[in-house]
Amino acid sequence: MQKFWKVLLVLIALCLSVGRSSAASTVDLLTVHFLDVGQADAAILQCGDVSVMIDGGNSADSSLIYAYLRQTLGLEHIDVMIATHPHEDHVGGLSGAFEACSVGSVYSSVTSYDSKAFDSFRRYTARQNIPITVPSPGDRMGLSDLTLEFLSPVRTYENTNDNSLVVRILHGQNAFLFAGDAQWDAEHDIIDAGYDLRADVLKVGHHGSDTSSSYVFLREVMPSYAVISVGAGNAYGHPTETVFSRLRDAGATLYRTDLQGTVTCISDGETLSFTTQRRCDASALWLAADTLTSVQPGDMPAAAPQSAPYIGNLNTGKFHYANCASVDDMKDSNRVPFDSRESAISQGYVPCKRCNP
Ligand SMILES: [Zn+2]
Ligand SMILES: [Zn+2]
Repeated sequence: MQKFWKVLLVLIALCLSVGRSSAASTVDLLTVHFLDVGQADAAILQCGDVSVMIDGGNSADSSLIYAYLRQTLGLEHIDVMIATHPHEDHVGGLSGAFEACSVGSVYSSVTSYDSKAFDSFRRYTARQNIPITVPSPGDRMGLSDLTLEFLSPVRTYENTNDNSLVVRILHGQNAFLFAGDAQWDAEHDIIDAGYDLRADVLKVGHHGSDTSSSYVFLREVMPSYAVISVGAGNAYGHPTETVFSRLRDAGATLYRTDLQGTVTCISDGETLSFTTQRRCDASALWLAADTLTSVQPGDMPAAAPQSAPYIGNLNTGKFHYANCASVDDMKDSNRVPFDSRESAISQGYVPCKRCNP
């Protein structure tokens, strides 16, 4: 009789282990790139042949975005583009994504917003004939082995940050939460609405500002890993000590783009692994902006981004052939890539008189 129970236990254990390994092996690997775009947000998710982009950095990052998509990832199509909210540090650099790739569908917290960066974003969607969808909280969509859930805004706020689309992405047994720049009011309303917020990886809200990542919110999310997308020496003092102490209490392992550059996470549906572009002392990672002066981020790898055939100057509104002498003199932060002459003109740029593009 004892033998019977032993055999039964072994059988149950076998079934469980087969169940677990098949859960991991039946989903395509997911790679999430949290791009180092300074004081801004940009993330690209690739799962099988499906790709999702959440925010695209500042306008000055559009060349970087273009090169990362075209050269580093070799991507030609983005299935779903999500602009969490219309601030420039989230939508500005999406122009580089529109130049590099065709785009399937676009989600945004608004369809209009009075800014140059959002106007440019709108012109791109109009040109590629893509309607801008404003999702409702609770909307879900399946995309290959990913499930996307929109959780916020639950209501309309005066503060543009609070109106951020908050997106939870499920991949096998792993969950990712992208909080945009949502602040306390929005965080509390998501909890009150009763959504499941649990996530293994949290893209920390609002660049590590202490107006986000409240205790109650983190208690619901319970992140094992927290990624802060933030610029070194930013004027806002992000990230702050208070946010660190809350993240520490939550027991999260920390990653941050200002010290580690682009952070990449791979999920097999069960386990997660992280790599970073630069190495950084573990002790320095938990230093808030105001105590960080003595820490120098590691060397930036020599970047040789693939240039688009045409380069616009954000400052002058002119565009040039990539090999025009004026492009050499242009500050990196003023360069915007264009894949065609028509594209530059449709964005309101005028041809340079020297190179006559
Ligand atoms: Zn922001
Ligand atoms: Zn914002």
